[in-house]
Amino acid sequence: MTFDQPAYDAASHDRPVRASGISVIVPCYNEYDSIDELLTRLKAVADASAHTFEIICVNDGSADGTWRRLCDWAAKWDALKLVDLSRNFGKEIALMAGLDRARGGAVVLMDSDLQHPPELLREFIALWEQGHDVVVGVRRDRSADSAVRQTASRAFYRMFNMLSEVPISNQQGDFRLMDRRVVEAVKRMRERSRFMKGIYAWVGFGSVGVEFDVPERKHGKTSFSPRRLLNLAFDGMLSFSTIPLRIGVLLGCVAAAGATVAGIYYLIKTLILGVDVPGFASLMVATLLLSGITLAFLGLVGLYIGRIYEEVKGRPLYVVRRTEADIEVAKPRSVPGKITEAAE
Ligand code: UDP
Ligand code: MG
Repeated sequence: MTFDQPAYDAASHDRPVRASGISVIVPCYNEYDSIDELLTRLKAVADASAHTFEIICVNDGSADGTWRRLCDWAAKWDALKLVDLSRNFGKEIALMAGLDRARGGAVVLMDSDLQHPPELLREFIALWEQGHDVVVGVRRDRSADSAVRQTASRAFYRMFNMLSEVPISNQQGDFRLMDRRVVEAVKRMRERSRFMKGIYAWVGFGSVGVEFDVPERKHGKTSFSPRRLLNLAFDGMLSFSTIPLRIGVLLGCVAAAGATVAGIYYLIKTLILGVDVPGFASLMVATLLLSGITLAFLGLVGLYIGRIYEEVKGRPLYVVRRTEADIEVAKPRSVPGKITEAAE
């Protein structure tokens, strides 16, 4: 167990009052093969616990039989709640849909591909009961990842932490338990480009880590391709820092100062030595360099404006197609008093 910062001492009397119930949020995207084992293991944990559980599975526009399998389970397990999004919105938004639905005093976020062992919840809950507001699953080692991915990941975290005011760690992911107060804070952050790690760091609260080994994915493959990870990394930087813009201002100032010095130099040189026509090369270099920098930063400003545009539209984060309550309605029902019968 590793401590970021001791939140509350279990033995002291400042233990916070806890709202009851545990909500477990599981985003599912094409996880048909994992659902049975995941829910069987989760049910064992829930049944053995003294707490009341609700499991919220968010189907993020799966194209396989995930929703059907979830419905089968909901029919026999009352604690299971389902949210079916109208299309694939991405994991970050699916988690939000789950958080909006969750009612528990503590909310656990976990993947549905069994890379987050459900049995660890016991330890999470015990630490929450002791007074910790956030309990995070900490990956013991990342050796399962390829060398390229590890290097890229390290480079990203170093750069992010240089730019952002809130530092994040590359060992902590979405597998975590949050107290109701933390959940309410996260729910108030409704931005569209959601970089969850940054959001968790931004809301603060003391956290405690529980180390675990990430098992190999048993079924299917990861939805996060290198390209998607790169987009996410980019999203994260732009949402949590405006320092790139400041670098633009700084570079502009340096270039302007350089130009002034060069201008004075050439003016004096011309006054003393007369007009010197050659100088095409230096002129071209300066023009190309400056217009390159200008265009690059114009593009960067455009990126930020694009994000403002996305936010300002104020669209809902997600659209729900149906929930577990709608499954009953979908069953064939006898319709009393049909018009044809009444006429007979
Ligand atoms: N997921 C999702 N929507 C997506 C992609 C993924 O809800 O668009 C879910 C997926 O079902 C899984 C979790 O997010 O429960 C993590 O996905 P994955 O295992 O592909 O990512 P990795 O573990 O490789 O980071
Ligand atoms: Mg996974």
